[in-house]
Amino acid sequence: MPAVFFGHGSPMNALEKNRYSEAWAKFGSSIARPRAILVVSAHWYVNVTAVTAMARPRTIHDFYGFPPELFEVQYPAAGSPELAQEVAEVVKPTQVGLDQDSWGIDHGAWSVLVHAFPDAAIPVVQLSIHGLRDFDAHFELGARLSPLRERGVLIVGSGNVVHNLRALNWSEPDLGFDWTRRFDDAARAVLSEKPSDAPGLQAHPDFERSSPTPEHFLPLLYIAGLASAAGRPLEVLVDGYAFGSLSMASYTLDAKYPPQKDTRPSAGLPDPAIVPPEDANM
Ligand code: ZN
Repeated sequence: MPAVFFGHGSPMNALEKNRYSEAWAKFGSSIARPRAILVVSAHWYVNVTAVTAMARPRTIHDFYGFPPELFEVQYPAAGSPELAQEVAEVVKPTQVGLDQDSWGIDHGAWSVLVHAFPDAAIPVVQLSIHGLRDFDAHFELGARLSPLRERGVLIVGSGNVVHNLRALNWSEPDLGFDWTRRFDDAARAVLSEKPSDAPGLQAHPDFERSSPTPEHFLPLLYIAGLASAAGRPLEVLVDGYAFGSLSMASYTLDAKYPPQKDTRPSAGLPDPAIVPPEDANM
């Protein structure tokens, strides 16, 4: 099963049809139907690692100042207590709390899922982001989720590579500031070449401004961890900028091409097809 990081941007993207929502929809309709979806959302950022374990998660409207129709959106997917239990097993020795009533499906999850899986017929479980853990710990926790991919679980990270709400310029919907672009480019280079270096992006000179708080960046580390475990890089699903200080980049793992029977080491020996034949000097 593929994995994906969605750059979700404004909650209004839940209601809009634009090139981002279209890319998310295309992703959802192009992959084999998952057994369940596990979402690491920027908006469940707490001081504990937990999974939603209720059978019927509620739709959470965790924002304010948006039009009433956004508060009316429901994403009535079932939960999956079974998957919650499996998550707790695969990430051991990390302790995972089984949440029965505090969370549900937040807008980081539903604003993209309404486009990717509009029928809400696939069970959804969320995994919280423990705010006191360092970047390496999130990356490693992501890698440990790998066995779930083989069991038909779609793992989704939902955040933004660059997310600075204080710097937003509302009059420029498609603008990316210079520093937004610089950090976004640096992240793209790492993710598409060596995802194992993703935790090191916090040392980039533009990181502080790109992520004044880390919660929108951290879901990306889970997907980078999965990529590193798979020995394959991430691929850009769609990219762009919004309001100066948001990156809208989304990344997929193993989505375009189903896993190949490929025995080459991940470090990238030259593809046999591009090694010059012996008579190439003719
Ligand atoms: Zn958000």
